[in-house]
Amino acid sequence: MKYKSLPKMKSKLQDIRSQLLGGIEKTIKTSQDEEFTQLIPDITDEASRSFSRQMLLNLGEQDREKLIQVEEALYQMENGGYGICKLCEKPIPEARLKVVPFAQHCVSCLNAIEQDQKNNGHNGTDQLESF
Ligand SMILES: [Zn+2]
Repeated sequence: MKYKSLPKMKSKLQDIRSQLLGGIEKTIKTSQDEEFTQLIPDITDEASRSFSRQMLLNLGEQDREKLIQVEEALYQMENGGYGICKLCEKPIPEARLKVVPFAQHCVSCLNAIEQDQKNNGHNGTDQLESF
């Protein structure tokens, strides 16, 4: 799936990720030498993914959920599958991805999931995708 605004979405995702990790990275940066901190933005995807995983422990549950979705979307951008609904496997409209670049479901599947959770009488996880 080719999206015209893919570079914009990618930088938005990276922004969200650095916001989420920002507070934690700051504490790391002050405790490491400068050479190491300069490496952080350039480490390989694989390394940055496991780096983020470690950091997840220090995040609140909602931020953690969001970060996982952001990481997943960034991974999919590199490796394929970005913008494909996880349930119906149809492409997610670009307009939606512009608003929620880490969306993993199309709107109709997301509604179905929310409806399902209501029917089951629990709130489930926060529907981050729907803001
Ligand atoms: Zn769908």
